[in-house]
Amino acid sequence: MPELPEVETIRRGLANVLPGRVFARVDVYYGGSVKQPAVAEFTQTIPGQRVSSVGRRGKYLQIFLENGLVLVVHLRMTGKLLFSPTPIELDKHTHLVFTFTDGACLTFNDVRKFGTVYLLPPHRMCEIKGLACLGPEPLSADFCLEYMKAKMTKRKTSIKALLLNQEFVAGLGNIYADEALHRAGIKPDRAVISLTSQEREILYHAVCEVLHEAINWRGTTMSDYRDASGSYGQFQNRLRVYQRHGKPCLYCGERIERIVVAGRGTHYCPACQT
Ligand SMILES: [Zn+2]
Repeated sequence: MPELPEVETIRRGLANVLPGRVFARVDVYYGGSVKQPAVAEFTQTIPGQRVSSVGRRGKYLQIFLENGLVLVVHLRMTGKLLFSPTPIELDKHTHLVFTFTDGACLTFNDVRKFGTVYLLPPHRMCEIKGLACLGPEPLSADFCLEYMKAKMTKRKTSIKALLLNQEFVAGLGNIYADEALHRAGIKPDRAVISLTSQEREILYHAVCEVLHEAINWRGTTMSDYRDASGSYGQFQNRLRVYQRHGKPCLYCGERIERIVVAGRGTHYCPACQT
């Protein structure tokens, strides 16, 4: 699933090409992707609308229109949002095609069909389950060391589960939770309450560092993820533990192990992480 660095990479790509463009039409090939409004209203409202900017909140992309509406897209497992300056050939997983007045198009592809698209005014974005209760953006001033420490006092859950909790911090998923915990030297199944003040501080910096690095490397492509131009990310070549079970730790040579924490496959080094 695309996490914050992947969605941010897509956002940056779209922010370079969408603002100023005017939608001519939208063709819906799988109506199940459009959650709000009804498909007929969706296809009638889009034409003539000009894009003003492209934003992101957690893993949600937000395409702001000059008429005040927002097109909100969550890619879930396998969704792709691809921009092309010229018309493209459809495949069987192309669910939506937005065509602009200059012939450029934005397509929404989704093999698993879990991705969701909404068109609504900003004050109704709170109706999107998951978006309304998002915690702070990890790369914003709201996610500071004081916030992190304050939110970690009464937790009996594992530290991995807390990092995955979107109400605690927005946008982290399985890849970057595992990577941040390896950088911080913390075993993923540790109870939050057991982390020392120093460990909390190290983990805070590890979360920020791994997200910044992954954005700089344009995200991680394990299978489906592509950026807005269809290119692969590069961070998969720099992963230290995620999906590296059975391989030697790049730091100490110990075998990376895989366990299940918070219901998710979790990768860690038994020597580096305690
Ligand atoms: Zn190690």
